[in-house]
Amino acid sequence: MEYLPIFINLRNKKCLVVGGGSVALRKINLLLKAKTKIECIALNFCDDLIALSKTNKIALITKHFESGDIQNYSVIISATNDESLNIQVSKIAHESGIPVNVVDSPNLSSFIMPSIVDRSPVVIAISSAGRAPVLARIIRAKLETIIPSAYGELAEIAGQYREKVKRRFNNIKDRRQFWEEIFSGVIAEKVFSGRSKEAKKELEKRLNETKKGRLGEVYLVGAGPGDPDLLTFKALRLMQQADVVLYDRLVSKRVLELVRRDAEMIYVGKKGGESSHQVEINKLMVDLANSGQRVCRLKGGDPFIFGRGGEEIETLSDNGISFQVVPGITAASGCSAYAGIPLTHRDYSQSCRFVTAHLKDGSDNLPWKEFVVEQQTVVFYMALTSANHVCQQLINHGMRLDMPIALIERGTTPEQKVYTSTLTEFPDLINDKEIHAPTLLIVGEVVSLREKLGWYGE
Ligand code: SAH
Repeated sequence: MEYLPIFINLRNKKCLVVGGGSVALRKINLLLKAKTKIECIALNFCDDLIALSKTNKIALITKHFESGDIQNYSVIISATNDESLNIQVSKIAHESGIPVNVVDSPNLSSFIMPSIVDRSPVVIAISSAGRAPVLARIIRAKLETIIPSAYGELAEIAGQYREKVKRRFNNIKDRRQFWEEIFSGVIAEKVFSGRSKEAKKELEKRLNETKKGRLGEVYLVGAGPGDPDLLTFKALRLMQQADVVLYDRLVSKRVLELVRRDAEMIYVGKKGGESSHQVEINKLMVDLANSGQRVCRLKGGDPFIFGRGGEEIETLSDNGISFQVVPGITAASGCSAYAGIPLTHRDYSQSCRFVTAHLKDGSDNLPWKEFVVEQQTVVFYMALTSANHVCQQLINHGMRLDMPIALIERGTTPEQKVYTSTLTEFPDLINDKEIHAPTLLIVGEVVSLREKLGWYGE
């Protein structure tokens, strides 16, 4: 290890920054977060620094830097583009035994500034010892995506209860187990979703409980239309912390590969042509959560769009089970984006409807007339078997015969296929094709944009 990582307390300590440009500004903003007292020496200052000085947060000293300027500073940063000046600052600081950083010059610095992920009070520092700062920044970006922004809040709450927990559990093992449960269970999730008050109440309750055992929870997670890159950060995080995953047919294989390796996987899609009864799925979720498991209910697209998410949370709520819903990219958004068909467009469509073409008991009580409106896009979900019927009904209700229509098969996946046609010609087009579910129908002038935008290929 070339550098020893340490975290230094600079609260109310005097620090010197030499330089008045945007680089100096960036360092000053960082020092301000650590509540330092800053003096900044330069001949010219950028506007933002001048504005900062007006709020009395920093003192600007307009002058040439000289060796006599070095006093009892805790830290010195040189952020100028004048190399000889940087060398001079570095030399004097070294002689005075004051830690110095010269921006982008590890050779002149006695300490280097890492890339940081700031979830104060939790701070993660990443350094490549000056070898590859861009790589350190890339690592930082990765960490930013997987560490919820409310980690700081969680640490803050943990800090408030540290002593109480210490008193409650007098051996280290119990204490550690308690905190592990807090940080990866219901209570942490409450904090992450902005419900800190509830989280604290729950924590108090846990502290007073005599029996052990983890609280179960259900995550209703939208897995998007197929491409795993379309998952949200939150979806991925919960998929990786769940103990059990209940998934259905629409969740793509590539998405399932991202679930925690040792999680139990339960398929609740079609069994021999029959959907598992919703009642059974609901009961299973309740039972698993009641046994203390973190249950991830993975659903294709968005859980609240033709996904029965509403029914499932009703049951959970009736049974007093803690849950959260994570929105996903619905098939209409994913498929249209990957097929080059904007769902709305100022010139072609001012509104968009999502319709289920799954006709209960074969009966058709859809408000067809409302779909036959110019400047509107209608997206039909679950329309594979009823595609011809949809076209016929639209024609019967007065839609113009040359209205463009697209069928998107297995959208957003490597197997995606797109067929475009007009209302009258569409049934003939797909008649002899082998079409694979899931498919989506998009009806509206916006479909013609696909060709206009040069989206060919599939
Ligand atoms: N909750 C889901 C929809 C469930 S209904 C969502 O928000 O997307 C199931 C229907 O969604 C399918 O019949 C099909 O019409 C559509 N669908 C889901 N994924 C799809 C995909 N990758 N390509 C095309 N259609 C898809």
